[in-house]
Amino acid sequence: MTMKNIYIALGANEGDRAANIIQALMLLEEDSDINVCLVSQMIETEPVGGPKDQNAYLNAVARLQSSLDAGVLLERLQAIEARLGRVRTEKWGPRPIDLDILLVEDEIIDTPDLQVPHPLMHQRFFVLAPLLEIAPDVRHPVLKKSVAELFNLLVGK
Ligand code: ADP
Ligand code: MG
Repeated sequence: MTMKNIYIALGANEGDRAANIIQALMLLEEDSDINVCLVSQMIETEPVGGPKDQNAYLNAVARLQSSLDAGVLLERLQAIEARLGRVRTEKWGPRPIDLDILLVEDEIIDTPDLQVPHPLMHQRFFVLAPLLEIAPDVRHPVLKKSVAELFNLLVGK
């Protein structure tokens, strides 16, 4: 049973956003197959895509350790989303919590239900900024660049 380092993104734009993120982290930690190792600060960002007039988001990222298969981990994340009241309606619509898998060690997964690394992570400030805080040297296994390099490319430095 090999423990893998996993990075996830947490986002909330409905209800008590910070409480939703903390609750999701507590439910992850309660799962005996998952350890929550490190959590970034939360940042507030404007919604990207989806319907107009959505609330601003709170976003954070976390480092987990788990030996779970990535597909099983996604199911655990989706169960937590459902428990926190998430109803899937329109794409990129408002949600009390969104849990996305960013990186699973240096695994590359490309199935209809799961793509890892997350295909949009390197384009999203709300992912790279908190990831820069907790994992600047972690490398993207497809783009072959560190998080710090991806962040600098995104913000044009
Ligand atoms: P989004 O995160 O793009 O706002 P959803 O949370 O509704 O949208 O997710 C839509 C689908 O994305 C999920 O049903 C899941 O199967 C798929 N998906 C593909 N790759 C990932 C990933 N790395 N992390 C989370 N979901 C993913
Ligand atoms: Mg999602």
